[in-house]
Amino acid sequence: MSSTPLSDTIAGHRATIQAALDKSASQPVELIAVSKRQPDERIEAALDCGHRVFGENRVQEAHEHWTHRREINGLKLHLIGPLQSNKSEDAVALFDVIQTVDRPKIVRTLTEAANKLQKFPELFIQVNTGEEPQKSGVLPGNTEELVDLVRQTYPGHLAGLMCIPPAEEPAGPHFALLARLAGENGLSALSMGMSADYELGARFGATHVRVGSAFFGARETG
Ligand SMILES: *Cc1c(COP(=O)(O)O)cnc(C)c1O
Repeated sequence: MSSTPLSDTIAGHRATIQAALDKSASQPVELIAVSKRQPDERIEAALDCGHRVFGENRVQEAHEHWTHRREINGLKLHLIGPLQSNKSEDAVALFDVIQTVDRPKIVRTLTEAANKLQKFPELFIQVNTGEEPQKSGVLPGNTEELVDLVRQTYPGHLAGLMCIPPAEEPAGPHFALLARLAGENGLSALSMGMSADYELGARFGATHVRVGSAFFGARETG
């Protein structure tokens, strides 16, 4: 571990977020540092301060950030962005957790890829709690059917549910809905909460929060 001004800054952010999570949650919460569109030196700095759990929302960019770092001890990578079926094999090869399962076709292509590679990432089902037409995720009313399909075809690796609430609405009711759906379906993991609302997510029972800008600093645009 080396100390630089940048790694001190990121270590400070990380400690602040972790302290807030410890205060808000009665359950353990995994802090996923979302490294999409972050400069490489910030990723290095996060690794320097001992962080090992990261999230990316594009498979291609994730390769650029992580393929050469994949062997780092304890590294855990979450895919948190929409997955195209033709990228399933790539995603299974790179990620430990895929949070954005949202339709039967993806369940099928992930299952094929996992069987072929004999590597079985943990899965989350993304739920479109706000029923927004442009947003990915299964509708709340179709969640149970998709849970059943994953349990049948990809047994033993369904961790829980994930959501991204509508930007312009209070997040609390969406977190509550996700927690209820998880309970009804016997799932224990809940990925909910980002930079603006990770404490709220933790209070509503999040087991995973996905924090980008509050962890690393503002993202590059584009
Ligand atoms: C970018 C992103 C995040 C992190 O966003 P911040 O507001 O920077 O914390 C979390 N979840 C998903 C799905 C994302 O795409």
